[in-house]
Order: sequence, then C-alpha cells, then structure tokens
Amino acid sequence: MKTEASSAVARPQAVEIAERPERHFSGLGVSAGIAVGPAHVVERGLIDVPEYRIEDEAIETEIARFSDAVTLSASQIRNLQAQAETLPEEVAGQLRHLLDAHLLMLTGSRLVRGVEARIRDARINAEAAVQVQLSEIAQAFAVMEDPYLAGKIDDVREASARLVRNLTRAGYQAFSGLPPGTIVIAEEITPADTALMDPARIGGFAAAHGGAEGHTAIMARSLGLPAVLGVADLAGAVRSGDVVAVDGVRGGLVVNPGEATIARLERRRRALERRERQLARLREVAAVSSDGARVTLQCNIELPNELPQAQEAGAEGIGLLRSEFLYMNREEPPSEDEQYVALKEIVAGMEGAPVTVRTLDVGSDKLAYSLGEHIAPSVNPALGLRAIRLSLKTPALLEAQIAAILRAGAHGPVRILVPMITSVKEIRQVRKAVDKMVRKLTRARVPITDTPPLGIMIETPGAALAADALADACDFFSLGTNDLTMYTLAIDRGDDQVAHLYDPLHPAVLRLIRFATDAARRAGIPVNLCGELAGNPRFTAMLLGFGLRDLSMAPPNVPRVKQRILALDAEAATRHAEELLSQSEAGRIAKLIDAFPDDS
Ligand code: PEP
Ligand code: MG
Repeated sequence: MKTEASSAVARPQAVEIAERPERHFSGLGVSAGIAVGPAHVVERGLIDVPEYRIEDEAIETEIARFSDAVTLSASQIRNLQAQAETLPEEVAGQLRHLLDAHLLMLTGSRLVRGVEARIRDARINAEAAVQVQLSEIAQAFAVMEDPYLAGKIDDVREASARLVRNLTRAGYQAFSGLPPGTIVIAEEITPADTALMDPARIGGFAAAHGGAEGHTAIMARSLGLPAVLGVADLAGAVRSGDVVAVDGVRGGLVVNPGEATIARLERRRRALERRERQLARLREVAAVSSDGARVTLQCNIELPNELPQAQEAGAEGIGLLRSEFLYMNREEPPSEDEQYVALKEIVAGMEGAPVTVRTLDVGSDKLAYSLGEHIAPSVNPALGLRAIRLSLKTPALLEAQIAAILRAGAHGPVRILVPMITSVKEIRQVRKAVDKMVRKLTRARVPITDTPPLGIMIETPGAALAADALADACDFFSLGTNDLTMYTLAIDRGDDQVAHLYDPLHPAVLRLIRFATDAARRAGIPVNLCGELAGNPRFTAMLLGFGLRDLSMAPPNVPRVKQRILALDAEAATRHAEELLSQSEAGRIAKLIDAFPDDS
C-alpha cells in the first residue's frame, strides 16, 4: 500500500520520451492524481493474465490443463442450466438461450481449436492463448455486416472469461506481472477488476466507459489511484507499451506525451504531493468547527488491505465496509470462517473504534462471479435482485455473513448495516436472522459480541420518505447519497452518457437527505452519511447545516474534509442549508455552495 502522502499521485517511472505524436483525450476525472507510465491495454471482458513461453516438452501438459478448464467450464454452465430451470419460465427461457450459446463456444469451437493451436504453435500458456485468440475472433466479428452475428462476440467473450477464470484458479492475481507504475487502459473496468489493482504496481487507469459515482470510480478513490473514465474515443488509440499520462484531476489522458507535457504534469504532480503532505499533519487533530461543533470522520473501505490507509488518515471508525468486495474475483462465495478472518483483521486493526459492516450489496454495477448462480440476468439490474433482496432470498448467505460479523464483534465494536432497505418488514426479517444466529452461536459456545446495533442504508427515495417508520424499526441510519441520487433522478450513476445529468444537488435529493436526517433526530437514533458527498469538502458546510455530525468517506478525503470543518462556522452553515433548501434549481444551489465562505 502507498503512504498517504503519495496516495493521490503516482510517481512516473523512468519513461521514454516517445517519438510518436502526442495525442490528447478527455473524459471524467474520477479520482484525483496524476500518473505517467507504460500503458497496458486490457481486452474487454477478461481479467488480465500473464503471458509466458511453454517449453516443447510441456506443451501436452499445457493442452491438458486447457482441456481441464474447458471441461470444468462446461460443467459449471450445465449446473447453471439446471438451476435456471427452477426459475420462472420467462427468465429460465432467456437464460437457457444464453447458456446454450456459451456451451456451444466450448465444444470444438473456433475459440477452443484456436487456443490449442496457439499453445502448440506459438508455445504460449493457455490463458494468454485464450486472450490472443479472443482478440483475433473479436476483430473478425467487428467487420461483420450482420448485427446479429456481430453481437455473438459477447458469447465468445463470456466463454473466454470463464475459461481464463478457471485457468487462473490459483487466485485472481490480475495485473500482477506488470511493471510498477503501469497505466491500465480498457474499454470497461469493473469494480471487481479495480479491487485487483495493487497501487504499488498500478499507476492509474483509464476506460472508455464509467461514471464518476459508479463503484469503479469509488474504488479508485479508495485506493488513491488516478483514474479517468468515459474517454469516448479511447478504443484503438493506445497500444500496450505506449507511454501515457492520466490526469485524474482534470479528466485528461495524454498518449505519447512529449517532454514539455511530462514536465508540466510533473510540476502539478509535485504540487499535489506537497498539499497531501501538509494535509497529513491534520491526522491527530479533531474535526471541530470554528464555533465548536464536533464532527466524527470515519472511512469507507472495501477490503482489509485498505485498512492501513484508513488508519493513516486518522479514521475514527469504519463507517462503511462494503462487504461485497470479499465475494469478488473468486469462484465460490467466502465461507463464514473466511469472512470472519477478514472482518476480524479489520475490527482488531481499528483498536476499539467501531466498524460498520454492510451486508452484501451485489447487483447493479457490482457483480460477483461467485454469486452468479444466485442472480439471473435482469432486464434492469439496478432495480432487480440487488443487496438485501438477494440476502433475504438466500438465507444461507445472509446467515453466514451475520455469523461472521457477530464473531468478529468479539474483537471490537461492530454494527450491522443493511443496504437497499425499503420496508419495515425487511428490517424485521434481518433482525430475526440476527437473533437466530446469536442463539445458534451462543448455544455452540462460539465467542460473539452482544447483539450489535442494526442499521439501514437510506438510499432510495422510498426509504427516505418512509424514514420515520423505518427509524422506529432500526438502530441507526446511514445515508447513501450515491444511490439516493441515482434512484431519485432515475440516472444511472455509472453511465458516462448521462453523467452530466447526475446531480446530488438536485433540490429533490437535498430535501430527501434533510428529511431522513430529521427523521433520525426525531426518533433519537444516530445518522451518518457515507455517500460520496461526505468526502467532498465542497459540500461539507451544507451537510453540517443539515445537522449531520458523522461523515464516512474514502481515506484520502479525510484530511481534506477535516481542513474544511476546522474553517467552518456550523451556525452559519445551518442558515446556509436553509437557504439551499428554499431553492428550486441545482445550478443556483451550486453557486450558493461555492459562495459560502469559510469562518463566516
Ligand atoms: C451509496 O449508495 O451512497 C453508498 C454509500 O453505497 P454504494 O456506493 O456502495 O452503493
Ligand atoms: Mg448504495
């Protein structure tokens, strides 16, 4: 892991100044920082794999390894087919069609034959051969006139991705063979891909798709990786090995930057680094406004390996642990024991500060291959079997998670947070599951915590408007403004095409935040905000003005927000918030926010 001082910026490696012309691209700067390094272009739909040569005598063994992966892949698809038959006919029909196509790709297909030939002729390892063969097939499909046939490439991609996953069973060590400082370039980078990026190795990334509030962007900010998404004309513009510069502050990507550009970026990079160092000095300072309002600043993390960053930032707790990332990049969901070990590391590492573990929130843009069998393709995944809906449908998943949280609670304070709640009934069902697991573990004499507080995410307009009733049924609220904005405005948070319309300052969103915060106060339960609004100092006065005193954010944002709080007058912020709420237009609200002075 990087140190905090360097987390926002990646040092350029010894880069060669290319002779090819410098080209500039623009997109959404979703994670601040500047990085220059060699590009690594990833084929869509595949996790990245190392390529190595196979000795003559090892060729047959490599082909046998590939055959095993084909057999395993086919049997996984047949299992999925069997499960699909238990679903309602409409869904089962669609799924049958899809899985049949994937199975076809594994039986004597151009993909399978091509991979075998490549292992034999090019003497490369099986996973690299899959990647090369897929690229060749994709190129052939791309020039097809018939859109139906051209669309079939998705089936080849799916089958290839499955093969690679099965070949790399040893672990999803994607990007592991790359030189330090590599910039990953892809058409699309999923949240699961991002979770595999080690900031000690990856300098930053850019992709053609993705929005600023999708989970890929959130993960980039958590890891402190400079990133630019939604770079429209990226396809084919970069080759692996090109030198590229990612400017996550301004949303720029430069391919083959010349000397002058590199020097300019380097100056800006150093200035950012200096600022990070200055901010790091605030680590031990409490977040108190100039008129004495104390604010708790916690961190959002996804995996145990982000814990050092939260600790370095001076987090007063983990306000949101996105547990779904524990389910990604693996074949099977983690067992209760595995989850316990991961959670215990975080809980013990926080040394008495509270850790809020959110139960599984897969679905929408967060997909976990290991849970694929539980989630059939949905017409609209953001409105489908996401989060608590999946957990309640598969009690074994929920109960294993709860048991792991209860056991981790024996090592420090924990809270259970449930995503996408919309009704009191759902809270009651989860509480029942918690009580059941408390009884079960107690009977088995497993050391656990006393029943922890059970809270809910307020992240749909329905939940915000029903906040009074929900507050009576749970122990705390956590305001998820990322989804609240998405569902209130009906704008996908991860879609670059509508990213310009995604605006958490829309009056409707602000009113819902205010309403839910007030409902928590009326019910006397704690409330915090863990959406991306919390980590942006621009919005700190507004949130304090709404009465919020507990904010949870990506680790690099803690000092930035703290600095703003130290300079703010909370009383004035309250009057400011009232004025914001009386506005009818997001643009005007933004202007008022930017005009609000520090220490007024
Ligand atoms: C949110 O929706 O604001 C939130 C914090 O949850 P996530 O970003 O994981 O959906
Ligand atoms: Mg959410």
